[in-house]
Amino acid sequence: MFEDKDQSRTPLSQLGEFGLIDHLTQHFTIAQKSTVKGIGDDAAVLDHSNKQIVVTTDLLVEGVHFDLSYMPLKHLGYKAIIVNLSDVYAMNAMATQVTVSIAVSNRFPLEALEELYAGIALAAKTYNVDVVGGDTTSSKTGLLITVTAIGEAQGENIVYRSGAQPNDLIVTTGDLGAAYMGLQVLEREKEVFKVNPRSQPDLEPYSYLLERQLKPEARKDIVELLAKMEVRPTSMIDISDGLSSEVIHLCKSSKTGCRIYEDKIPLDPQLIHTCEEFKIDSTTVALSGGEDYELLFTVAQKDYEKIKGNPHLTVLGHMTEESAGLNLVTRGETLVPIIARGWNALTQED
Ligand code: ADP
Ligand code: MG
Repeated sequence: MFEDKDQSRTPLSQLGEFGLIDHLTQHFTIAQKSTVKGIGDDAAVLDHSNKQIVVTTDLLVEGVHFDLSYMPLKHLGYKAIIVNLSDVYAMNAMATQVTVSIAVSNRFPLEALEELYAGIALAAKTYNVDVVGGDTTSSKTGLLITVTAIGEAQGENIVYRSGAQPNDLIVTTGDLGAAYMGLQVLEREKEVFKVNPRSQPDLEPYSYLLERQLKPEARKDIVELLAKMEVRPTSMIDISDGLSSEVIHLCKSSKTGCRIYEDKIPLDPQLIHTCEEFKIDSTTVALSGGEDYELLFTVAQKDYEKIKGNPHLTVLGHMTEESAGLNLVTRGETLVPIIARGWNALTQED
């Protein structure tokens, strides 16, 4: 993952608001041809010519969405961009620009914000999006970050949550639950550290889970893959709150029911191990754990041949008539209703 930097501390008061903005944004360049004007005027200017524009925004609050005791600021900056790009890709659109707004308390030195912006810059470069603006203000409590992402697509290619039909196949990318278990590992180590600050945890057995929690990626590659395979999903959503919550959104919007097969849910071996260690059911984690940022979509049966065998894609089940309800077919072949329990519910249970 990312390396640590040395700990010099320049107070923000030394730069002032405009000095700070200049300092943090000085290295951003423009890569997208749709960006006419980026940072430096009263507003950015974009020209997406004949494309449709998608816009999405997320607010991240310290103590609610992230914990700086185990989330390095560079990772936080990276993740703040990723969670927004994921929403753009979930529309089957390509992300082109972001704005980043922050509220910071003066307990942060300049070096901390440099770390945050290093993560933001890395994500912007990796996903080829321009940082075209934002706002900077002070906060009396914790750190707040708002990212707005802008993307584009030909109108006919945009995929909504509402287009699924009965018998469409339900497909997920990647594997599920790992980010949630990564968080459980971090929470556990935090408790251990409180008791014994000199303990040196061996986190190697959890490396994949931690990476999924601390440095998630958004599935831009899937939007490109679908275009290349000439598969247009009938509905799509990104998995930020857990599989069950997202499949419920697709079914509600599309007015369908669904059948998901427990034995099809893709789980990483490290997740299975760690769930055994924590004595948590891995299916529950995949269904209710959050922050995987995979894409969940439906395709018509006729597209099965095109997606079959692709290592990024797993068919989990299919849509049904609405009246059949939303069901999980367990390994024991019983039907269990799928209920909305995002990661919030799962955390409260602990
Ligand atoms: P205004 O007074 O119009 O809000 P600012 O001085 O806040 O302008 O911002 C100057 C420029 O810097 C604008 O282009 C704005 O979008 C950009 N900007 C301000 N804060 C940030 C930030 N945290 N990240 C990226 N761009 C920023
Ligand atoms: Mg401003």
